[in-house]
Amino acid sequence: MSDAPDRDVAVVGCGPAGCAAAVFAARDGLDVAVFDRGRSSLARCAHLENYPGFPAGIDVGTLSDLMRAQAERAGCAVVDDLVESVERAGGDDGGPDGRPETDEPLFVVTPQEGEPATARRVVAATRYDGEYLRGLDDDEAMFAIHDHGDETHEHFDRGYADRDGTTPVDGLYVASPSEADRQAITAAGRGARVGKRVVADARIDDGWWPEAAERVDWVRREAELDDEWADRDRWVEWFDAAHADGPVDPDSDRFARVREAAVDDARSSYVGADDEAARAEAGHRALAARLNPDAIVDAHDPDALLDAMDDETIAAHAAGDVSTVNNRSNASGSDPPTDGGDR
Ligand SMILES: Cc1cc2nc3c(=O)[nH]c(=O)nc-3n(C[C@H](O)[C@H](O)[C@H](O)COP(=O)(O)OP(=O)(O)OC[C@H]3O[C@@H](n4cnc5c(N)ncnc54)[C@H](O)[C@@H]3O)c2cc1C
Repeated sequence: MSDAPDRDVAVVGCGPAGCAAAVFAARDGLDVAVFDRGRSSLARCAHLENYPGFPAGIDVGTLSDLMRAQAERAGCAVVDDLVESVERAGGDDGGPDGRPETDEPLFVVTPQEGEPATARRVVAATRYDGEYLRGLDDDEAMFAIHDHGDETHEHFDRGYADRDGTTPVDGLYVASPSEADRQAITAAGRGARVGKRVVADARIDDGWWPEAAERVDWVRREAELDDEWADRDRWVEWFDAAHADGPVDPDSDRFARVREAAVDDARSSYVGADDEAARAEAGHRALAARLNPDAIVDAHDPDALLDAMDDETIAAHAAGDVSTVNNRSNASGSDPPTDGGDR
């Protein structure tokens, strides 16, 4: 176990709920692993037509690839493996209340094929599966039994977790199954809410107080900063005014440390025009890498496409020099599609 990866957060499932939770957590710098394999609700949709941003809908294979790629780009390790169990680290002898100290891993996540991992927090995001959580709390609390005629069925209780995903088990969050899991976009919204809760709780573990720990994940234009707010001292004043009457002494080292981190975080959300353009370019490339080439050709004027290609590639193609064309297109810098896995 000593060589097992030790994560801040293990997310189980990279559907809409898990992807959103993982991305929000990783974007605040948490070390996140996302396990993803097994029964998927999303994979059963014939075509997703009510998810914002896709005018003619999106096939679920492409959306799954995009979600995995987004999680990876946010810094998550995406693990193509099925989680079989999540148990408390240290078992019954872990420490006070039967669990380790707060900065120690609380959970051991055991996948089907790979090595177990430890994690301080676990987010369940598996609409059809909760079995791997059995034993973390009483069965009566986690699972509900329904009668169907002569038969009874047991399934994970959709109301087990609060709306922000928190549960009676310290460090365990449930993004799905939940009351929000019947539509892809509401499942994603629930995942985002849970990811934000995870971020706030990790900050609180690190000495932040609740009012300071809530984070907005925005990317903003530097041009919107007037001269006053371009000055770091103005942010320090803002923080001091907002938290003067808070629970932590403004003259303490703890207050200064949290203020430094909060001001850095707020200021780093502003990007310059060049950075904004580079992000737009990267966004287009990441999408284009996952589109059918025929669709790209059909959607664009041929001259525009030829203009976008360099002359050497066109000449090599016309001459039938496949190796040159392949070498050049591999060097284009776009993100390769990730393996969609067994979903
Ligand atoms: C037939 C059908 C059609 C649908 N059509 C639509 C529609 O048109 N529009 C719409 O909005 N919604 C539709 N839905 C609902 C939509 O699929 C769900 O709302 C959404 O997918 C829920 O997202 P989720 O992330 O909670 O779960 P899921 O989509 O189920 O994602 C869970 C992920 O976790 C993985 N996983 C599961 N168990 C484990 C495990 N033990 N370890 C590791 N990984 C695991 C799965 O492989 C999957 O990738 C449809 C559902 C069905 C069944």
